[in-house]
Amino acid sequence: MTSLDDLPIRDDLRGLTPYGAPQEHVRVQLNVNENTHPIPEDVATDIVTALAKAVLGVNRYPDREFTELRDSLAGYLGHGLTRDNIWAANGSNEVLQQTLQAFGGPGRSVLGFPPTYSMHSIIASGTGTKWLTAGRDGGYELSPETVVAAIERERPDVVFLCSPNNPTGTALGLETIAAAYEAHPGILLVDEAYAEFADGDTALTLLDGRPRLLVSRTMSKAFAFAGARLGYLAADPAVTDALRLVRLPYHLSAFTQAAAVAAIAHAPEMLAMVEDIKAQRDRMIAALPELGYTPLPSEANFVLFGGVDDPHATFEALFEQGILIRDVGIPNHLRVTAGTDAETTIFLDALGWLGSVGRIDA
Ligand SMILES: *Cc1c(COP(=O)(O)O)cnc(C)c1O
Repeated sequence: MTSLDDLPIRDDLRGLTPYGAPQEHVRVQLNVNENTHPIPEDVATDIVTALAKAVLGVNRYPDREFTELRDSLAGYLGHGLTRDNIWAANGSNEVLQQTLQAFGGPGRSVLGFPPTYSMHSIIASGTGTKWLTAGRDGGYELSPETVVAAIERERPDVVFLCSPNNPTGTALGLETIAAAYEAHPGILLVDEAYAEFADGDTALTLLDGRPRLLVSRTMSKAFAFAGARLGYLAADPAVTDALRLVRLPYHLSAFTQAAAVAAIAHAPEMLAMVEDIKAQRDRMIAALPELGYTPLPSEANFVLFGGVDDPHATFEALFEQGILIRDVGIPNHLRVTAGTDAETTIFLDALGWLGSVGRIDA
């Protein structure tokens, strides 16, 4: 049988492992930070109507410029943005990939601050961009001084910041982002996949007068639209022109565009569960110490918690109960998504029970 090693694959891809969060259909799935609430039925009906209309034109290529969708996204974001500031792709992962295709690539580098979103380094390797890393401050914070020192030391072509950061939940102060921009002559991308859950200011407020700043967002998390695959960014119009050089023509299908426009028209309804999800997050942060764990503060829809003697054993014990959370590879830590009230209860009860019967360390 042929194995990967037998193929003439690029040398820089040899030995790498693909993104592989488990996709197991258990009763409580809290491992990839989805919005676990189904979308409202009236929104679903409108989306189906839009898809039905789109299918009648599917013999033709879709609008390559996804103009209506860019108008919708600009309206949703506000901050004086117009369609010329907006770019979109099949998930923000594709937006990040296109960003590195245009501004990174062979001979260039991108700097990140682990622990951070695992796809950042995977997209770097896929685009042949060198992945550089620098450390964080205590509590996974990032001060302006720490970021500036790393930029001056590493001299990257692109900098990725993530706020709130996955998997730690840490939000960045705008002063850190502004300082990174001043210190860095290249592209600065702020991944704001969890912005709707955060209390602090968005980097969108910094865009004016900063043409090398890119702010990426997604409909996969707060918007409850992960299956539709729609990510986007806001930046100077010149940046979107750069991304047009690397995107495949018609990369957003007519169905994706129609579904996303219909969903954004119902933005308040689609985002209705955000406050509830934040309450579940805060409930876990309050309850975990009573079970002997040390949760980190979070401005996202998940909680990273420490004090886990054997993360693999705890992960497996919960999985046996039909509860899927995430081992993100940080020693003595696990990450859990904030889901519904019922899901939080099942998770906390199971964790408490495992501790009380001595199955795990708590
Ligand atoms: C989940 C996540 C994304 C979203 O990716 P999509 O491709 O839009 O589904 C992007 N960035 C971070 C940090 C994430 O956690």
